[in-house]
Amino acid sequence: MSHDDSPRLIPTGKCWCGCDRDTSLGSFFTRGHDKMAEAAILALKYEGSVARLLDEHGFGPHNSLKETALRARVWEQCPHCNYAGAPASIRNHIGKDHKDEEK
Ligand SMILES: [Zn+2]
Ligand SMILES: [Zn+2]
Repeated sequence: MSHDDSPRLIPTGKCWCGCDRDTSLGSFFTRGHDKMAEAAILALKYEGSVARLLDEHGFGPHNSLKETALRARVWEQCPHCNYAGAPASIRNHIGKDHKDEEK
């Protein structure tokens, strides 16, 4: 399943974690509730184990999630070191750990 053919989700104005609170315009969750929902589905479906979640989707030591994310361009590689992550966290990481190289 690729990024492009997933159905488009539309925020409904209510928090998607199920707490029934109103969200700000265009948001799926009230502040921090995306993390709560993430933890809840992990607990419900994967016994709270990220390893199990990865395994369920065919990833693990034998099939690198990192390489796959990089190939799909949802992640980027830090130009200075081995760190990889979402574009926003790469910018963050470079600003923090490679201040000198980026001058
Ligand atoms: Zn909520
Ligand atoms: Zn780096």
